[in-house]
Amino acid sequence: MSTELSTRMKNISMSATSALFARVDEMRRSGIDIISLNVGEPDFPTPDNIKDAGIKAIKDDFTKYTSGNGIASLREAIIKKTEQDNGVSYALDEVAVMTGAKQALAAAIMAVVGDGDEVIIPIPCYVSYPDIVRLAGGTPILVDRKEDFSLDLEAISDACNEHTKAIIICTPDNPTGTVYKEDELRQLAELSKERDFFVVSDEIYEKIIYSGSRHCSISSFPGMKDRTILVNGFSKTYSMTGWRMGYVCARKDVIAAAVKVQSQTTTTPPSISQAASVEALTGPQESVGAMAKEFEGRRDFVVEKLNSIRGVKCNNVEGAFYAFFDIKSFIGYRTPTGEQINTDTDLCAYLLNSCHVAAMPGSAYFAPGYVRISFASSMEVLKKALDSIEVGLNALKC
Ligand code: PLP
Repeated sequence: MSTELSTRMKNISMSATSALFARVDEMRRSGIDIISLNVGEPDFPTPDNIKDAGIKAIKDDFTKYTSGNGIASLREAIIKKTEQDNGVSYALDEVAVMTGAKQALAAAIMAVVGDGDEVIIPIPCYVSYPDIVRLAGGTPILVDRKEDFSLDLEAISDACNEHTKAIIICTPDNPTGTVYKEDELRQLAELSKERDFFVVSDEIYEKIIYSGSRHCSISSFPGMKDRTILVNGFSKTYSMTGWRMGYVCARKDVIAAAVKVQSQTTTTPPSISQAASVEALTGPQESVGAMAKEFEGRRDFVVEKLNSIRGVKCNNVEGAFYAFFDIKSFIGYRTPTGEQINTDTDLCAYLLNSCHVAAMPGSAYFAPGYVRISFASSMEVLKKALDSIEVGLNALKC
């Protein structure tokens, strides 16, 4: 007998984003004015038509359990959207609504990954992928992306073996803002067919994409529908992070298994949020384009400003709302009070404590030497934050 924590949990970390969120909250409560560029949620309110649909659901007493895979009208709306956007047709039992895209990822990965299975994850990557794989009993195999953050298909191919069960990709990508090109996705699709593994495709940022880039879903290539586990959600496109709504489209048996996970954990996604999500998909879409346009203006400002700071290098951001910049040139420098900056985490601690700007260290995304900031804040806030970052970085001495 023992009252120790499980061995499984010993290998799992608290999401780095959530941990920093808690630290910022603590500093704010002690009276320090912090600018949060660490949080991954749009700063816009949920559009009114969606809020109204949620209120109507409450007033209509649509406030009880629903079917475990989500209400049929929402799955139908998802099927229509996926057909229109990706040209792929799913049946009702090939779609499941989940309590957020993160839960969709977790349930789908638990459905296909078990003890001894390996899952390839190109890095930098979203903080949660490796731990979700570990929670399922699998082993994450981290494979570097190229210098420009495109997929290194040779390295991915070299990482494949008889234990490879899946690869997880995200496009447009958090944290780098990269949008994978059709050609590299086509090559990955061929590899997945040749070596027989699933592609978990996280497309949660698909609508936050900037001029000159085009979103391509790997599920749309011939023979890929059944080996793609398409994950998407409402948090980013419709600014609905707190409504906790996501979904997964995949082969019928994968969906049935993912729904088992949901049925034994959260039972169903929230009924009220499901009603609001039907409106999100079927109602007016103007707010989606308006948000993306606003993000694009901020992207232009943030990337240009970062690249104008001595020692900082930032790749162009093609989608999502993050800038991921190289700060390796500051490693070994000292702060005005004499502390040495040895890592990106040290640099972020300095930015937080001295400049009062919260940013995420690249190590959280398995990319030491980088920092991620979110530009889901107003221009006014971004200008103030980037001025503080510039002053802070210029004050570092070698
Ligand atoms: N996938 C990626 C790449 C994300 O950045 C996030 C949230 O930041 C999620 C999934 C989870 O989204 P949700 O709020 O729908 O759980």
